[in-house]
Amino acid sequence: MAETIFSKIIKREIPADIVYETDTVLAFRDINPQAPVHILIIPKIEIPKVTEIDGKKHSQLLGDLFDAANKLAKEMKIEKDGFRLVLNCGDNGGQEVYHLHMHLLGGRQMKWPPG
Ligand code: AMP
Repeated sequence: MAETIFSKIIKREIPADIVYETDTVLAFRDINPQAPVHILIIPKIEIPKVTEIDGKKHSQLLGDLFDAANKLAKEMKIEKDGFRLVLNCGDNGGQEVYHLHMHLLGGRQMKWPPG
């Protein structure tokens, strides 16, 4: 699998506005924000997309991603009003970067259904 731009961000080969980091997870601001708060939360290991998640094997990592989302929502002061977590998978899902990532969106009213 070809290296993605997110692997380069993890290795600090390209810059990003990093807002959170642990041994397993990195979070940085989306370069093209769709809301006042738009953060991407990614695992440091390469998992290309949702369909390659193994619930048992990656259970701790999935917990780490949600812990990061909750921590950041609190830090960005969007946890009370609410926010949206999005994982796009594959072409029809609108996935552009094939390194698993969770979008944390908040700071405005979200609409449903999504586009
Ligand atoms: P997705 O469509 O779910 O694959 O989302 C990919 C997201 O990555 C998009 O929202 C892009 O704006 C964002 N993105 C692409 N390159 C960068 C970058 N270098 N730094 C931060 N965000 C990026």
